Amino acid sequence: MERTAATRRSLREWAPWAECVIMVAARYCVIEQEQPSDRARFAGYALGLDYHDWFRKRLIRLGRLLSNILGRTVQWKPFCDTSPVLERSYAAHAGIGWIGRNTMIIHPVLGSYLLIGGIAIDVGIETDSPVKDACGTCRRCIDACPTMAILHPYKLDARRCISYHTIETPDPIPEEVAAVMENRVFGCDICQEVCPMNRMQPAHGPGYRGTIEPAFQPHGERRTMTMEELAALTPERYRAIFRRSAMERAGREGLTRNAQAARDSQANRTMARPNGPPEAEAARRTDP
Ligand code: SF4
Ligand code: SF4
Repeated sequence: MERTAATRRSLREWAPWAECVIMVAARYCVIEQEQPSDRARFAGYALGLDYHDWFRKRLIRLGRLLSNILGRTVQWKPFCDTSPVLERSYAAHAGIGWIGRNTMIIHPVLGSYLLIGGIAIDVGIETDSPVKDACGTCRRCIDACPTMAILHPYKLDARRCISYHTIETPDPIPEEVAAVMENRVFGCDICQEVCPMNRMQPAHGPGYRGTIEPAFQPHGERRTMTMEELAALTPERYRAIFRRSAMERAGREGLTRNAQAARDSQANRTMARPNGPPEAEAARRTDP
């Protein structure tokens, strides 16, 4: 992100001809029920197939239809997570949801378990309006974060976040993060699990896990694997279980490192939650 900061400042740095963006969202699968503590726990978005290909194919399909829909030749370029585009900001401007105090996009009905992507186009079209922030005085996400990564409402320090340490960095997991990550071995959904906005999606009957999209349904062994098994993951097992999943980003080395750190954290359960940085501690004391 540091390398591409200048490009992220404006979509036109990435697509100079852009006049508008079309933003889209898809809800992914979640399993919120309690899991045994020896069971490896993965972020909901990683349970099914890797969403990048899935999303990109659909964006391309939509892009190819645009010339017909808009009645003129349209230049377009899709983005989904891998381009230097501030997708969340565009999604908020486009009215998909508001950016919550946990810094996630929250749709008023579907909640925050959302993948977002979009298409830049070279034609101006009628735009939607942003939706109103409905977080109010709630602070459940802030209080629930085990690493105090949410410094204060709307500001998250990724360097303290379990998701960053279990996915994005090859470095060893810091002791204070390992002490509280429990069985979260790829990502962390705590600040979404506690959010009341994730309880408002329409019911789709027994067994409904947030989406009926087959690609996002949990791969069997990603739900049942223990941390012991993950810590001893062979290359063959890794390929069989995690191929074509978003967990390839961490790789076998990352997943086994995380499992080892998670097991160590369980052995150290008596350790207290770490103090946050002064900014977060002050906000915790003063924010209502
Ligand atoms: S993902 Fe987990 S560690 Fe990161 S901010 Fe949310 S609750 Fe905190
Ligand atoms: S838990 Fe509360 S404050 Fe946090 S994002 Fe959800 S509604 Fe907003």
